[in-house]
Amino acid sequence: MKIPSDKITRLRELLATPKNVLVVSHYNPDGDALGSSIAWARTLESMGHRAMCVVPNRFPHFLEWMPGADRIRVFASHADEVTAAAAEADMICCLDFNNPSRLEGLSAAIEANTGATKLLIDHHLAPPEDYFDLMFSYPDSSSTSYIAYKLIEQLAGADAIDRDMGTALYVGMMTDTGNFSFSFLTPDLFRVVAALVEKGIDIPDINHRVYNSYSEGRVRLLSHALGPKMELIEGGRAACMSLTEKELRRFNFKQGDSEGFVNYPLSIEGVLMSALLLENHRFIRVSLRSRGDVDVNAFARRYFDGGGHKNAAGGKSTDTMERTIERFRTAAAEFFNN
Ligand code: 5GP
Ligand code: MN
Repeated sequence: MKIPSDKITRLRELLATPKNVLVVSHYNPDGDALGSSIAWARTLESMGHRAMCVVPNRFPHFLEWMPGADRIRVFASHADEVTAAAAEADMICCLDFNNPSRLEGLSAAIEANTGATKLLIDHHLAPPEDYFDLMFSYPDSSSTSYIAYKLIEQLAGADAIDRDMGTALYVGMMTDTGNFSFSFLTPDLFRVVAALVEKGIDIPDINHRVYNSYSEGRVRLLSHALGPKMELIEGGRAACMSLTEKELRRFNFKQGDSEGFVNYPLSIEGVLMSALLLENHRFIRVSLRSRGDVDVNAFARRYFDGGGHKNAAGGKSTDTMERTIERFRTAAAEFFNN
């Protein structure tokens, strides 16, 4: 991944005078959303700008320890403050998503500010053509945090990244790559990790904080999802798990508790696609993961009004759970037999 120097020049021009910047990331913020946002906001501040980090809803408990997580404003609990800040922003930076629909309730506040410069830093496929003034869109990057590192390095120099920012960026790189086991694991990604290690990040500690801090409810909910609630279809090529609101309550569900569940069925030999159907009070969120050439981005677009990456995508359904499961079965049959 190489960022063209004319784009850096353009960014420098946009940031030539002090700006009020809103750094925004997606619904159900994950490690990459938070890590890239925190490091980007810190960079802007070091260049003399004001920056506020905003996400639509709460982030999971296992990310609360991240250095800088305390500065993230959650729209769901600070709607007035965030709406006012969005209205005043000269620049809106969208990190780790490229479609405004991923902002859910926060999108109206963002859309209302038509005067702000819009900047994209992201690794999702197919950004909208005419929405952003400047795009750093690299779908072949394993995380937005990796793009953020490269961008900060070119814009402000690697010295602008301190240990705390490095820790935040590493969380993003680590979580979006499934602890460096998914695709786009380039030599340069590991060079960046090496640079972060030189800044003093503590990898065993980060690993422990992210992966070994689950609540009892989450672990029991996982066993429920993989046990009674997992169905294998299409001759074992697809797996589907579903969790209703009632079940979530039974396991004392907290935001983010089901993060990562959808990956587990892919550890079964022969399973090429995995789905998690998660009910909330408004709709059913569909999470999809796949292996190899099975394109769940296409699947999500075609059947569940969503999108994402080739091997990790999502969408939604406003049908009942039973009907959504049935739709998934039909869609999988069509998808695997064509
Ligand atoms: P997750 O299953 O972790 O919620 O989402 C996996 C990926 O799918 C995310 O990185 C996101 O890009 C994408 N995704 C999830 N839900 C949606 C959706 O409703 N619309 C689109 N376009 N992408 C989604
Ligand atoms: Mn990401």
